[in-house]
Amino acid sequence: SSAASSLLIQKCACFLVASEVEQTYIMIKPDGVQRGLVGEIISRFEKKGFLLKGLKLFQCPKDLAQEHYKDLKERPFFPNLIDYITSGPVVCMAWEGDGVVASARKLIGATNPLQAEPGTIRGDLAVQTGRNVVHGSDSPDNGKREIGLWFKEGELAQWESVQTPWLIE
Ligand code: ADP
Repeated sequence: SSAASSLLIQKCACFLVASEVEQTYIMIKPDGVQRGLVGEIISRFEKKGFLLKGLKLFQCPKDLAQEHYKDLKERPFFPNLIDYITSGPVVCMAWEGDGVVASARKLIGATNPLQAEPGTIRGDLAVQTGRNVVHGSDSPDNGKREIGLWFKEGELAQWESVQTPWLIE
């Protein structure tokens, strides 16, 4: 019937849209791991209601850190930044949801933790720009780029959360 075929078209359209939901790359930096903040930081994104797509503890090699931060390579702090990011394991995460890139940046707070609002991760948990505990992609394009850089094929999970119908009408 035409009703059944229009439902099918709707479902296909839904699937196409769903497969292109915005994703962001969030990383707990070595200071966050060393300071025992992994659970606290993951918890902020979980509680907000975003979908966790990928998660791993990882010792970042120098060339990956340099590629990740390549836009900053002319800045005076670049060598220190690479030493910092490679100084211990980081926690790599991919999070998904409508508007997740900008929202995660708000949850993270300003680059300088002394300027970050209370209630944000950096505002609550850090004091220095050079030790600001967490990274979040600054655009959906960079979200894609960075997830591609830090995760291998097959490392992201395809799953649906039972919470979704209670988060999204
Ligand atoms: P954000 O991480 O908030 O997107 P940027 O992209 O400007 O900030 O910088 C990337 C990272 O480089 C910062 O999170 C911080 O770890 C480091 N960084 C930026 N500016 C400085 C600085 N002036 N001194 C030391 N480290 C810095």
